[in-house]
Amino acid sequence: MSFTLEGHAVAPGIAIGRVHLAESNELEIGEHRIGEDDVENEIHRYRNAVRAAREQLLEIANRIDSSVAAPAVEIIESHVLMLGDSKIRQSTEDHIRRELCNAEWALQSQLEQILSEFRSIEDDYIRTRGEDVTQVVRLVQSKLGDEAASAPFENIPDRLADTLVVAMDLTPGELAILHQRGVAGIVTEHGGPHSHTAILSSSLGIPAVLGVHGARSMLKENDMLILDGGLGIILADPDQATLDHYQEVRKEAEHFRRSLISLRNRPAVSLDGVEISLQANAERSEELKQSLAVGADGIGLYRTEFLYLQGSPPDEEDQLAEYLSALELLNGASLTIRTLDLGADKSTDAIDFSQLRRAANPALGLRAIRLCLRDTALFMTQLRAILRASATEKVRCLIPMITSVQEIRMVRSLLEEAKAELDQRNQPYDKHMPLGGMIEVPAAALAIDDLGQELDFISVGTNDLLQYALAADRGDEQVAHLYDLQHPGVVRLLRYVLREAETLDLPATVCGEAAGDPRNTRLWLALGLCNFSMHPGRLLEVKRVIRETDVGAAREVLKAWLKDPTLSRASSLLELLDQSQPSP
Ligand code: PEP
Ligand code: MG
Repeated sequence: MSFTLEGHAVAPGIAIGRVHLAESNELEIGEHRIGEDDVENEIHRYRNAVRAAREQLLEIANRIDSSVAAPAVEIIESHVLMLGDSKIRQSTEDHIRRELCNAEWALQSQLEQILSEFRSIEDDYIRTRGEDVTQVVRLVQSKLGDEAASAPFENIPDRLADTLVVAMDLTPGELAILHQRGVAGIVTEHGGPHSHTAILSSSLGIPAVLGVHGARSMLKENDMLILDGGLGIILADPDQATLDHYQEVRKEAEHFRRSLISLRNRPAVSLDGVEISLQANAERSEELKQSLAVGADGIGLYRTEFLYLQGSPPDEEDQLAEYLSALELLNGASLTIRTLDLGADKSTDAIDFSQLRRAANPALGLRAIRLCLRDTALFMTQLRAILRASATEKVRCLIPMITSVQEIRMVRSLLEEAKAELDQRNQPYDKHMPLGGMIEVPAAALAIDDLGQELDFISVGTNDLLQYALAADRGDEQVAHLYDLQHPGVVRLLRYVLREAETLDLPATVCGEAAGDPRNTRLWLALGLCNFSMHPGRLLEVKRVIRETDVGAAREVLKAWLKDPTLSRASSLLELLDQSQPSP
């Protein structure tokens, strides 16, 4: 009998094939007492398990073709680094000694403590690190158990071309193995839209639906399955007509994908001749390479938080090395480095946030540039590293969460100090390195005339600007319906910023997620935006819409809508914009 299950739509694409139920990799962890004489043996057993886990990860990373699955290799390498984390190792060994318990249980206790810290973090990206710690701990625990349980995918078929793997959860290593074997699609019971399984399946091009509760009990081995990764649904045991329909959709999707690739070297110019610059948001080396592969005009947002997520804050030389290696990969394209955007809601062990956690409303607290201007030693290290990278003349520096003119002046004065230090050391830098501000605070948007006089460029961060303008937390699903780019107040705010920037001759980019959603592209064009920065995976789709848009017609629609946003009850603003366009 046919039935449909729903989950998170994380990696688009249609997959059709037979179900393979992957064996559950869940472990039962129990607590056992050990005698004082057994403590050293237990610690020895624990260290051996860590070693074996490390060897297994390195072996998987070696087997992966990094030109295809570099994100998987990077994540596995970060897991290897985590295994070497002396803090976790020491506290687990201390726990064994103190509580006289087995290593599995000691690790479990450490895991729970670490996870409770991660749960209090609101930022999705950083919260994902909690998932990494779980996967690493699970691996070590499996190595402490019996051999067979710790071999990944011992019984999975070698060729998975027409197979959809249904699992409880998948680690990056397991996903990489499935990819190598040509898996058609994946379904998991656990895993949210921001999990690594989501990011990896999307970057590897594997259609996936995650978070399908009960999938493993409702589906049977060899069931026929259709997976629609764009809609986040799976259809079990479909009838012939549904199967035919989806085969047709799959063919069209493949055709669409090929036609996108052919756009790589075509200009991003609208039907009526408006030229657009398309940049990418990227930080990992794979994203930098992907940006070049899709023909991005440079990196419009290089987030630097990842440098601060382990151990202690990176020193000047470490940071410089990261920036220079990014520039080398970019091969002459420009790099907009955003200074640290950590604070109350985005936490890391590298910085002592103990006082900041007490903030009642962390999103309105001491984050980003506010934090950097409080801890100027931390900030100066980053400014010196950015300045030194700017000697290549390809670097722009971008400040997050700017609210006032005073903040910009303080940043400029610290930059002068940093330059003086570099002069003393005889180290070169770009004397004219452009300084930009992110417009994410509504009051800053409305004060753009004043702020703009002090800046060389601006970048509108819609992820934050929308949450503050609409008083709707960007990560809270319960108010997601309020988080709306088409709200007339938001549209007017954006129009104001972009118009004033044009009057000031101030280059303006939009770099929030809303810039990379092709459904919004015509709205941005109607608002007068000429510089987009987005995830490289979205760039060609956005370019396609630009090339099929008459900007003049879109502007007329927006003008009429702004006079009375409630005039058309039947269609939304985005629909009206689409309706105004000539059919392709
Ligand atoms: C934004 O707020 O739109 C943005 C790009 O910054 P982040 O998502 O890193 O806060
Ligand atoms: Mg932001």
